[in-house]
Amino acid sequence: MAILGVATLAVVALTTPWRALPAGAPPIEPDPARDFTAAQIARSEAFDAAIGVPAYLSLGLTLVVAGVLVGTPLGAKLLARLRGPWWLRVLFGVLAISAAVAILRWPLGMWSETYLREFGLSTQTWASWTADRLKNIGIGTGLTAIMVLAVVALARRYRRWWIPAALGAFTLTVVASFAYPVVIEPLFNDFTPMPASTLRADLLAMASKDGVPVENVLVADASRRTTALNAYVSGFGATRRIVVYDTLLRAPADQVELVVAHELGHAKAGDVLYGTLVGGLAAAFGACLLYLVGSAGPVRRRTGVPSIADPRAVGLLMGLLSLATVLSGPGQNLVSRHIEARADAHALDLTREPAVFVSMQKRLAITNISDLSPNIVEYLLYASHPTAPQRIAMARSWALLNGVGQP
Ligand SMILES: [Zn+2]
Repeated sequence: MAILGVATLAVVALTTPWRALPAGAPPIEPDPARDFTAAQIARSEAFDAAIGVPAYLSLGLTLVVAGVLVGTPLGAKLLARLRGPWWLRVLFGVLAISAAVAILRWPLGMWSETYLREFGLSTQTWASWTADRLKNIGIGTGLTAIMVLAVVALARRYRRWWIPAALGAFTLTVVASFAYPVVIEPLFNDFTPMPASTLRADLLAMASKDGVPVENVLVADASRRTTALNAYVSGFGATRRIVVYDTLLRAPADQVELVVAHELGHAKAGDVLYGTLVGGLAAAFGACLLYLVGSAGPVRRRTGVPSIADPRAVGLLMGLLSLATVLSGPGQNLVSRHIEARADAHALDLTREPAVFVSMQKRLAITNISDLSPNIVEYLLYASHPTAPQRIAMARSWALLNGVGQP
């Protein structure tokens, strides 16, 4: 177990691209005021302050619910009332707790959505918002049910159930990431191949120059949900795809090319597969921690759960899973920010257009109302990418290093 924990940390420490630019790159301080007007900065701060309230309340709710499930006998007491075979009680338990949490969280989601509309980011109706939310809850509940059922089943069968649970967690992570683009994404968006155009030809030419085999760039109909701009790579092997939001196609072609150059950086470095394998290792280690914490005497006494093999353990397991998700977030973001910076450096190397890169970052930040200077808590909890001013500063540093006119 300890070996798995140390191995995961060592892999992360040794493979994360801690430095996106070569050591000689001149450091440049991020400065929002250099690229954004006072009005743009004020709008970003106003949006951040508004959306922050429901976001922190939602996080608080998650922690309180998890705390109750892990630190009090309430979950076990309620679950003790269920009757029937063990697997049915586990399933009912997961459904009941998930439904209760979804209902508690619902008003916070509506509150957040009203701000997205007020600031012009959301294009949804309440009907489509509700459909999205129900789909998300369904997927989350389904995945939780699979995990909790598997853990209880293994605990009923094996004394050292952490071994098959760790293997199962790794496998589930890999399978889920591989299947995600073909199973989950189509539930939310339609994807169409980018229509033949100069832009498409240029993008494919750039990919082939980059040595990344890309047959197609897919366009997602994101505009039915948002005005935000985005692009991403998902899946790996046979399911790998580069997707751009239809909203992004309204941007100038050279800026779209820069976004795609960034995504090619992810594809070339195999970031999705890498993230999946590291995520799988972390999930396997998480399964071991679940075993250690779940079978610890004090935890069992406080929650009144006799053993993880008992269906009354469902609440404890769900509380621990939710705590693990929250606690692992800052670590995931830390690694993600460095991987994103490497993809930015790749985009600059490939296009050698730092001025277009800066324009594109400004467009992204202004349209998506990005947080230009998040406080340390927001940065640790939510920032999966460097901030726009950080990305712009890196482009200037790249420009100085490469003797290309500094934007
Ligand atoms: Zn990226």
